[in-house]
Amino acid sequence: QEKNRDGYPPLYDRFASFYSRYVYRRVRDCWNYPICSVPGAEVILKERVTKDNGWTFEFTGNKRKCLNLGSYNYLGFAEPSGPCAEFAIEALHKYGVSTGATRQQYGTCELHVELEKLTAEFLGVEDAITFGMGFATNALNIPTLLSPGCLVISDEKNHASLILGIRLSGATVKVFHHNDVKHLEKLLRDQIYYGQPNQPKGEYKPWKKILIVVEGVYSMEGTIVRLPEIIALKKKYKAYLYLDEAHSIGAIGKNGRGVIDYFNCDPKDVDILMGTFTKSFGSAGGYIAGSKQLITYLRQQSYASKYACAMSPPVAAQIIAVLKILMGKDGTDTGRKRIETLARNTRYFRRRLAQIGVITYGNEDSPVVPILAYLYSKIAAMVRTLIELNIATVGVGYPATPLMEGRIRICLSAAHTKEQLDYALETISKVADEIGLKFSRLPKDPN
Ligand code: PMP
Repeated sequence: QEKNRDGYPPLYDRFASFYSRYVYRRVRDCWNYPICSVPGAEVILKERVTKDNGWTFEFTGNKRKCLNLGSYNYLGFAEPSGPCAEFAIEALHKYGVSTGATRQQYGTCELHVELEKLTAEFLGVEDAITFGMGFATNALNIPTLLSPGCLVISDEKNHASLILGIRLSGATVKVFHHNDVKHLEKLLRDQIYYGQPNQPKGEYKPWKKILIVVEGVYSMEGTIVRLPEIIALKKKYKAYLYLDEAHSIGAIGKNGRGVIDYFNCDPKDVDILMGTFTKSFGSAGGYIAGSKQLITYLRQQSYASKYACAMSPPVAAQIIAVLKILMGKDGTDTGRKRIETLARNTRYFRRRLAQIGVITYGNEDSPVVPILAYLYSKIAAMVRTLIELNIATVGVGYPATPLMEGRIRICLSAAHTKEQLDYALETISKVADEIGLKFSRLPKDPN
């Protein structure tokens, strides 16, 4: 067996260490930028240079104000202006930062109760439960709902938190091609009629339960789930449906109520509605919403609630304020206007990018916009050059994407002005020309 210098078995596998030594180290200056401002429509980055062959950073003392296309601030609520921050500050004075206890102990304050009631009302379901972290909401609640003998049918592009939760549950997993309902149906049909693996041929042993797991808007693809078709399949095959709305809640739908709103579906047709407050709400944490029975079960059994401190009260206060704005309970039309501005910004930006000639993924209404760069070297060149021109974007590569499908990911916001978007489009066009990312000048079809 391979040993390290001190004779221990290696802590990291070979590929990971090859990868960090030769690839990631050369491009890591594109990531890990500390910020020194609110991550709003603009953000201030703390500049640093790499030292020691890329292993360490040294701060230069300079700061750089950038147009922020890299943070999840879909509705512009990251900015501490307006009533949200006041509400959070009030909660800070009243309850402090930490609850210092789990929900079942002394961790539940009035704000949690109000937040859960509002979340359920906003989503149009019976009840909701909230958690301190979005990632843990998936990773720790799926194992509360599933066990070995259950079957999960999971979209191939599902987020790491969903994959971890599914693995922890011990359920059997089948993966369907991204957003491909035909393939999903094939898997459902095969599993239902041919039973569990390792059964003698023809002996049918039903799964304890079957759960289809999908996202509303896929965070690296910008695609919108084909929800109506998936709901029809889940009904036809008597499966449950788990929908992660991290990137869709607040961000799409006429009333900002996510993909259910976008497709005009009945929220009760989705058994487990999950979402996070880190994106459209400018806050932190996650929720699960659904039937009273489901939520009561999670309140008693969820690892993320039973063994973890409750959501920080000022964080809850910020979300309550945003929910009230989105539901028009603040007596203004701020919520509706922000939802409309985001939708307008999204369509405009995507349309102009297509004219520029770069390749983007996803749906025209998705505010997550991946621009394909393919190679790591191109991701790095693009991110670095854009930062030099005062635009912050996020480069994403393997393992978050397939190895040869690296991309620059842009998150649009209602806080972006048309001037800011135009500056971004002009600059992206220039940089894409320099780096060779435009694919519109393909050889003409001889016919
Ligand atoms: N689900 C999805 C689809 C996500 O993209 C993310 C993170 N961006 C999470 C869950 C985890 O949420 P959080 O960052 O709020 O912990």
